[in-house]
Amino acid sequence: MCFAINTVSANANDINNQQRIDHLFDIFDEGEEGDLEKLAGYIIELETLIPQEDLKQQEKLIPLHCWYHPSETSEEFQQAIKHAEDLMLRHQKSYPSTLHTELLLCRASYYQYSGNPKQAKLDYDAAIQEAYQIENLRLIADGRSLRGAMLSYEGDYTGALEDLIPAQSMYEQLKLNYWARVNLSEIANSYRRFGDPQMALSYQEKLEKAYLDNNQLMDAIDINTQIAYSYEELGKNELALERFEKSYHYWNKQDKPILTAGAGIDIAGVQLKLGQVDAAIETLDNAEKIITKEIDGLFSFMKLFRAQAALLKHQPEQALSFAQEAETAFDVSNNERGLSQVYTLRNKIYLVLEDYQSAHEALSDYLQLHLKLDQKSLSNRNSEMRARFNTGKIESENQTLQALQRVKEQELKVLEKNKELQQVIIFLVAIILIIMTFYAAKQVKRKQLFKSLALTDELTQLANRRQTYNLAKDYIEQARKDSTHFSLISFDADHFKKVNDSLGHDIGDKVLVLMAEVSRKLMRKSDTVGRVGGEEFLVLLPGANEQQAKEIAERLVNKIADADWHAISPELNQTISAGVSQFNNENKLEALLLRVDNALYQAKSAGRNCVKTV
Ligand code: GH3
Ligand code: MG
Ligand code: MG
Repeated sequence: MCFAINTVSANANDINNQQRIDHLFDIFDEGEEGDLEKLAGYIIELETLIPQEDLKQQEKLIPLHCWYHPSETSEEFQQAIKHAEDLMLRHQKSYPSTLHTELLLCRASYYQYSGNPKQAKLDYDAAIQEAYQIENLRLIADGRSLRGAMLSYEGDYTGALEDLIPAQSMYEQLKLNYWARVNLSEIANSYRRFGDPQMALSYQEKLEKAYLDNNQLMDAIDINTQIAYSYEELGKNELALERFEKSYHYWNKQDKPILTAGAGIDIAGVQLKLGQVDAAIETLDNAEKIITKEIDGLFSFMKLFRAQAALLKHQPEQALSFAQEAETAFDVSNNERGLSQVYTLRNKIYLVLEDYQSAHEALSDYLQLHLKLDQKSLSNRNSEMRARFNTGKIESENQTLQALQRVKEQELKVLEKNKELQQVIIFLVAIILIIMTFYAAKQVKRKQLFKSLALTDELTQLANRRQTYNLAKDYIEQARKDSTHFSLISFDADHFKKVNDSLGHDIGDKVLVLMAEVSRKLMRKSDTVGRVGGEEFLVLLPGANEQQAKEIAERLVNKIADADWHAISPELNQTISAGVSQFNNENKLEALLLRVDNALYQAKSAGRNCVKTV
């Protein structure tokens, strides 16, 4: 008893453990949790919960160790790559496998972020191929989403969308909402980078709504900033400003000074475009207190905007020095787009300073860089993109989907309204079915009638010649197969010509009918009497030997002779002659018929009204 209780509680513990393990793995799969410290704690918890001998679940832990390796500094990135390699070596037994694919993806992303996109691409390609091999939809989606994001960053927008769009539908299919949103924001980025901010905006608005619905405020603010960029590129500066200010206030409230200053720099950029130069300078002054050279991404734009503001304030010398600082910072972060803005600005400054030589140099710097950028962003593949992923196409797909939805809704409404009508229709259909069944039954009967017409003789209602011969063939087969007897009687009206000649054809017919009646009455049910000629008949006697058949034939001859012929005509006396023969393993019915006809001929020769056998 006690033992039983212990077992039960142990099982209950196991179940609780497993539930917790599943829950923790789900957290990693779903990706909604963004707190890295919490996630690190979950990994440790999983390590303690999963028993050493549970190899399957231990294996699921391995990729997590890879993904959550520290990766802040470039040194850590190198360590993370090394770690991924070690894990692959240690678990290389299985290929292709989920584990191997995941480790490839993990290593690829470390390569990518440590500035080795070539190596990253090789790993992504291999991982995606392997994911297809093992038909793992989740890993296919992961691989294509990651590779797509990298291609987009590199400026290959066609390649990017070719990966990101299918990844999107896979994530949606798998109901991995978080990853679907991450992927969608990459799609939006690709459109914006390609110079289609309107398209980007349509995706970003969708995403923002999803994040807000899900109460993921930080993600919503990230998208808010991206929406602002899209507005800015569309020239909708007021809307952009509103959005940037929203981000600014959010980060300020969250006490994130760098992010707040970053939003401030964005605000200053738009303020300059709106001609609010003093406001922009004030905003930049505030940012300057936080943003140092080390934060080169933000520092470069801060200096660029400062230079623009100085030029607008008619301080070209100062503008020139800010532009120099911006250029250095853009160089560090390898931001060619930023550099091109510096060059055009410098051109303007030199024009104000009337230094045409330098102005020309700045312009040619700009043109050179612009050419390079154009080649990057408008490669053949990218120009294909307009045709293949153009706004219009996706727009029209959206419209088609919406139209389809409306049609469906309409159909539903109509269906609900017309429930009564539906019942009427069902009733009518039922009636039609009944009528059809009735006619079908009639049809069957009619067919049966036609069939019997084709098989019976009209005058006597006996089997006709065709039917009689067919049956005879069947009986021969049966007799051969079962080694049973089968005999035939062939009989023929005597001097029938005279009946016709003296009493008329009608009387002749009546004679034939009575003859048929008498003979049929005499036979068993299993026997068949057929009319095979004018006044010639054949009796099929399955199971009867020649002796039995002869006795039946004699009874028949007598019965016919004794029939009430006077009822037909006072002077009428009708007899028949019969021949009898037994099936004797003939191969063909014709042979048997020949013999029985021979017997009949002998009966005629012997004076008629008698039976002969062969
Ligand atoms: P036998 O005793 O040698 O058989 O002489 P028979 O006169 O019966 O033989 P025959 O073959 O010379 O004559 C058969 C006659 O049967 C010829 C034909 O007028 C008549 N007959 C054939 N079919 C019908 C029919 O359907 N109705 C009527 N009324 N007579 C028919
Ligand atoms: Mg005859
Ligand atoms: Mg005849």
